[in-house]
This record gives sequence, C-alpha cells and structure tokens, in this order.
Amino acid sequence: MTSPEKKKKVGIFGGTFDPVHLGHLRAAEEIRRILGLEKIYFIPSAIPPHKKQTKTTPSKDRLKMLEVALDPYPYFDISTYEIEKATTSYTIETLQHFTLKYPDIEFYFIVGSELFSYIDTWKNYNDLFKLASFVVIERPGFPEEDAPSLPIAIEPGFRYHMNRDDVTIYSNQYSKEIVFTQIQGVRVSSTEIRQRIKAGEPIKDLVPEEVEHYIQTNQLYTEGNS
Ligand code: ATP
Repeated sequence: MTSPEKKKKVGIFGGTFDPVHLGHLRAAEEIRRILGLEKIYFIPSAIPPHKKQTKTTPSKDRLKMLEVALDPYPYFDISTYEIEKATTSYTIETLQHFTLKYPDIEFYFIVGSELFSYIDTWKNYNDLFKLASFVVIERPGFPEEDAPSLPIAIEPGFRYHMNRDDVTIYSNQYSKEIVFTQIQGVRVSSTEIRQRIKAGEPIKDLVPEEVEHYIQTNQLYTEGNS
C-alpha cells in the first residue's frame, strides 16, 4: 500500500445538485487548486438524509444537468454510485465504497460549513474520519461568527495541525485531516435558483448556459413542476 503522503488526492463532492450552479463549480475549482486534487467526483445523492421531507427533481434530470455543466472540465467527474443505490445516501457508505474500490487514493470529502456543523447527526460520524479527510468550505453568504472551529462532538479526536494562507488544518491518529478553507466563491444556492424560476426571474449568471437551457427545455422548477 502507498504511504499517505504519496497517495493521489481526489475530492468527493456530494450534494443534491438540484440544480448544479456556479457556486458548486467555483467552489470545486478553488478547492482543487488549494489542495492540489487530481480530480473531483461530483456525487448526486438519491435521497439526501437531511432533505427526506423535500421533493427533489428526478435523478435523471439532476444527472443530465451535471453532465452538461462538468463537460468543459477534464478533472471533474460524476459518480452515479448513490443514484444507482437509490436508497438514502449516507456518506459513510459512499466513503466505504470508494476507499475499498480505490485503496491507493486519499479522498477529501468536500462539504459546506453549514452542513459540517451538524456532523454529529450523520450516520456513524466518528467512522467517517477513519476513511477520508474533510474539506470544509466557508461558504459565501453563510457567515461564521469566529474562526473556523471543530464541532464539539469530534474535537477530542483531532489536534491542531497547521495554518497556511487560506487553510486551517486539524489531523487525527488515522492521518486524516479536516481542512477549513475560505473561498472566494459565488454566493448562490439551488433554493435561490428554484425560487427565481418560479418567480419568472432570470438565472443567467447563476448557472452555466447549458444548464439554463436544459431547465428551460424541460420546464423544470416552474410552478406545479418542482
Ligand atoms: P439547496 O439550496 O437546495 O439546499 P445547495 O445550493 O445548498 O442546495 P447542494 O446540492 O445541497 O446545494 O450542496 C452540495 C454541497 O455544495 C454542500 O456541501 C453545500 O454546502 C455546497 N454548496 C452549495 N452551494 C455552494 C456555494 N455557493 N458555494 C460553496 N459551496 C456550496
């Protein structure tokens, strides 16, 4: 087995992507550069645990929008693992799948700070940090009160590792890291896009042109169709 320093670094960006927007793409671009990731897998979820009550757009449409959005980027890829599984998308199971399949890759799970702060509600959350490192995006528009800090529930397992330019890193006994990073980003959410479409407002500067075109052609997110 390859030592952790020599391993290829690959990102995993999970989400509902309903729809994918420029905030996702910009964040992935910046994180890839900051951490030197070889590639990033975008993994659309089937049923996200934190959105069980919400109706999501059929996975075939979310997937298609991701395909057209990621097409120009050779280092972005899509995994249909969670969609094919079709049950609730627990991150622990996704990480188990990827780390078993690719033992020589060091995975970095990318997540917004607004989700990471509830990490202790995730299934088997302590085991997540035996399998992968986490990159916590300080997402534009979701202000942090203070400097980035570890959620109390996982604090005992980590120690401060280093602070460098735009990253603060903690590490644990399994050589996994939690990397807090500030990105320039684009301040937009899928919720805002869905709301704008319902209200008949333009989404031009918020999603790639091909995604806008797909939404229009398939009349997604219009009243009674979302
Ligand atoms: P919704 O508004 O429907 O909740 P969303 O815009 O938050 O959707 P998701 O697909 O749920 O998008 O998010 C996937 C991941 O991308 C999450 O970790 C989320 O924090 C992150 N993310 C979403 N929007 C941005 C953004 N503008 N900048 C950085 N990260 C983002």
